[in-house]
Order: sequence, then C-alpha cells, then structure tokens
Amino acid sequence: MTTAYAFVPSPLHIYPAHPEHPSRFDLLTARLDSFGAQKLDVKPATRDEVARVHHPTLINSLEDICKQAPAIIDYAPTFVTHTSFDDALLASGGTLSCMRAVLSGSARNAFALVRPPGHHAEPAHSMGFCIFNNIAIAAGDALVRADGRTERPLQRIAIVDYDAHHGNGTQATFMDDERIAYCSTHQWGIYPGTGWYEEAPHARKRIVNVPLPADSGDQSYERIAAEIFAPFIQSFEPEMILVSAGFDAHWNDPITSLGLSSAGFYMLSKKLVDLAEEHCGGKIVFVLEGGYDATNLANGAAAVFAALMDKPFIDPGDASPRKEADASEMIEKICERHGFIGS
Ligand SMILES: [Zn+2]
Repeated sequence: MTTAYAFVPSPLHIYPAHPEHPSRFDLLTARLDSFGAQKLDVKPATRDEVARVHHPTLINSLEDICKQAPAIIDYAPTFVTHTSFDDALLASGGTLSCMRAVLSGSARNAFALVRPPGHHAEPAHSMGFCIFNNIAIAAGDALVRADGRTERPLQRIAIVDYDAHHGNGTQATFMDDERIAYCSTHQWGIYPGTGWYEEAPHARKRIVNVPLPADSGDQSYERIAAEIFAPFIQSFEPEMILVSAGFDAHWNDPITSLGLSSAGFYMLSKKLVDLAEEHCGGKIVFVLEGGYDATNLANGAAAVFAALMDKPFIDPGDASPRKEADASEMIEKICERHGFIGS
C-alpha cells in the first residue's frame, strides 16, 4: 500500500516579515516528486467538520475578520489575509483527506503538508500562527466517522507532538476526552507558556508533557522516544497515531532553540511509525506544524517520508554544533509521574 500526502501551501496567506510565510515551502515544493508518495485531492473542510473542535462564534468571527484583512488577531502575532479563512479550511481539509485515506485503507499512512498550522488553535481562540486546529479536527472526525476497515468510528487515538512549542490548542480540545491521548515534547520557557509536566494531574499516562531545556538534542530525544513515547503508546493502545510534526525543533530554527538534527527527526519519526506498526496496524498520519527555515523543513519532510515509506534516509549531516543540554532529570521525573519506569 502507498503513502499519501496532501499539499496545501496557501501562497496568499502571507504577512510581511512574518516567519510563518509561504517561502517555508520553497525547497519542499521542489523535492515533493522525489519522495514518490501519492498526492491526494483536497477539498475544504466544512463548517460542521470544523465545528467538531471550534465554537461557531469563532468560525463566524474569523470569516468576518478576513473580509477586513490584513489583520493581526493575537499577540503571537497571528495574521489573517483576505484568503486566510479559505486557506485554513483547506489546510484542515487536507488533513482530513490524509486521515480518511488511511482509515479507508486506500493508503497505508499519510503526511499532511499544510499551512496555516494548527496545534495552538484552541476551541474558542485562533492563536500562535494557527487559525483552525487541523490535527484536532482530523481526530474529531475519526471519532465519528466509520473506519472503512472496521466499519465503526475509532475509539482511541494518540497524538504525539514534536513541534518545538507546546500544542496548547490540541491539549485544550482533548483535556477531558478519554478517547484521545496527547504527548508533547517542547522547549520550556517559550510561547505559549503551557505544557509543564505536572499540569494535567487527572490524565496520568494520557496527557504527557515533556518540557525541555534549550539545546536538548538528538540524544535526549532518543531517550524520550524509548522511555516516554513507547510506554505512552503501549499503555494507551490507540487504534491510530497522529503526529504534529514541527521542524522548529531543529537546532538552527530562527525562532526556537532546541537541538535536533534532521537525523534526529528521522529517528523520532521512524520510532513513531514502528510503534504504529506494532500497535495499530501501521495507521499513522503526520501533520505539519511549525518549522521556519526552508532547508530544515524540506529535510524534515524527507525524514518523515523515509520513515513512512521504509526507505533509507539520506542524512544531510546537519548535527547541532552546540553542546547538548542534559534533559535526563526532567525525563526521569516524567517517567516517574506517569509510571513509565521499567515499562
Ligand atoms: Zn512550533
């Protein structure tokens, strides 16, 4: 079976000097054909599909604001243009296409290469460069739509988020929904300020936050993959894994300071694909979030496609020149809090 992808570059969703810019995709676009994946047709998400996550008042007000665009709608800053409402619907629609291709069995796995990104968008607030929460909308859809293979909606989905920022919107959406588990690695002390390891005490093993010091890099993430991602998936037993893939965790991202290399993104992505093979019949969908350097974004996407398609990853040799921070104390605290020790 094939690996599918959706491509939504939104060239008119653009604001001068803003890092979430269409040029993020410039090098990716040139390499898309070389990955050998199957491109999906994309149509916009409907209002009803978006309303599974977002309040109707937010949807309506965004449509109105875009008519008066360009505008800044929160302090991150999050911008909108005249096309942003439609672009955001298409980004969510592209993510839905990937989810449905995998659920129907027409693709083994998939990657939604979309912008604007989504994981900061909360049910009632667009924020953090995000308009609608693409991954949450796809998860919400899978909880109500019959799977082509089992002929019932999914009942358990795990979302892993390795963007450099905490996915506050995804966490807020599913804070009290026991059908969805959420695990996020992120740099501590930066936007949006949420994601401390003790902030969801009611959801032990289900909401797992991994706040990391700046310059946590490949070695720390290798431990996290083995000691946190693996027991998180094993204990929740999802029917599908969704991944918020943000390549701003690369060491030379212009707006963050984590320490991953492209080989590190491949290691993380391969681990998640292997966990999906082991626990959920290979059903996994990656969804692009951040990543503000075009080279890192293209290399990161290549790493994800190599993992999804079980092909060798051609390492560009871009390891961090900085000394890696020691994240072991935090990793151990998180394992202890969630009972992951020895699993
Ligand atoms: Zn980010």
